[in-house]
Amino acid sequence: MLLNTDPRLDAFAGTIVDWQKRHGRHHLPWQGTRDPYKIWLSEIMLQQTQVATVIGYYERFLSRFPDIASLAAASQEDVMPYWAGLGYYARARNLHRCAQVLCRDWGGAFPESSADIATLPGIGRSTAAAIAAFAHGERSPIMDGNVKRVFTRYFGIEGVTSERVTEQLLWRTAEAALADADAALDMAAYTQGLMDLGSQRCTRSSPDCPLCPLQAHCYAHAHSRQGELPAPRKKKASPERQCKMLILASSDAILLEQRPPSGIWGGLWSLPEYEDERALATACSNWGLSPEEARKMAGLVHVFSHFRLHIEPWYLRAGAPVVAEPAPGQAWIPINELSATALPAPVKKILDGLYCLTGR
Ligand code: SF4
Repeated sequence: MLLNTDPRLDAFAGTIVDWQKRHGRHHLPWQGTRDPYKIWLSEIMLQQTQVATVIGYYERFLSRFPDIASLAAASQEDVMPYWAGLGYYARARNLHRCAQVLCRDWGGAFPESSADIATLPGIGRSTAAAIAAFAHGERSPIMDGNVKRVFTRYFGIEGVTSERVTEQLLWRTAEAALADADAALDMAAYTQGLMDLGSQRCTRSSPDCPLCPLQAHCYAHAHSRQGELPAPRKKKASPERQCKMLILASSDAILLEQRPPSGIWGGLWSLPEYEDERALATACSNWGLSPEEARKMAGLVHVFSHFRLHIEPWYLRAGAPVVAEPAPGQAWIPINELSATALPAPVKKILDGLYCLTGR
């Protein structure tokens, strides 16, 4: 049990703040603002996604949806192309829904306290605390994946961090670290410092202890247990799934179908999928095309958090323009509009190989 007299708590937060000011990151596009909208957008994008990937998406998103009102007024259809390729699409759907809730219930602005922010769609306790700390200096702890790693190693916290008991201990420790800190603690620098330390020094596979400001009192460093903390999650074998995707080209367009609004790739435009070659051949015949002319392309594997999808793409170009109407939810998308269409990452990769979308 961690006591408030534990020497590891002494000066913990102050050390993080001093280090952040000298060695942390200060020039990310979402820093230097107290606008909760911009902070919120960056925090949501940064969940599960690396900073380098987020920067371009963040800037494009903000230039199209500069504030809560513009995001709330857009349709989900408008929003998804600005998220396509980032993955975890529920984040974008929640972002959109949250903007609408803010306009409906909060006068178009974010509430100030992290407790109120955490009631909004798609915003958990840690993200709410980060928004409140950066926007208003609220003194609430955060606990994302990077911060969990720092805390388990520094304080020697055993147990799998996704398990309730361990998570509660982590939160209590984070609260104790703040309770012990100076009353004038710079919360924005502390919050950013924890994030920076987790991503720049206390990294998953090669923690840089000699350059870490916490080294002197770090449990994992003292006991050479950096490789054991945080305790690894028991791994379940990821199920394997297969599907065939049809790239049906007619004139200068490709047949795409929109995924249902929730679930995998919700709301994005994907290639029609079939379980086996027979189903794919039937679909070709229904378009009045000869299945024998479909060409199998190199397959790819897309890894989701809970399964691996083996995709086998098939390409078929109609000799004459297809006249049959697409089924509900399907549409012919001109090839020169594909780069602006909300496509799932593996579909974008397949079509990019055929049509060089990135150069368009
Ligand atoms: S001393 Fe090493 S293990 Fe401990 S917090 Fe710093 S980087 Fe992580």
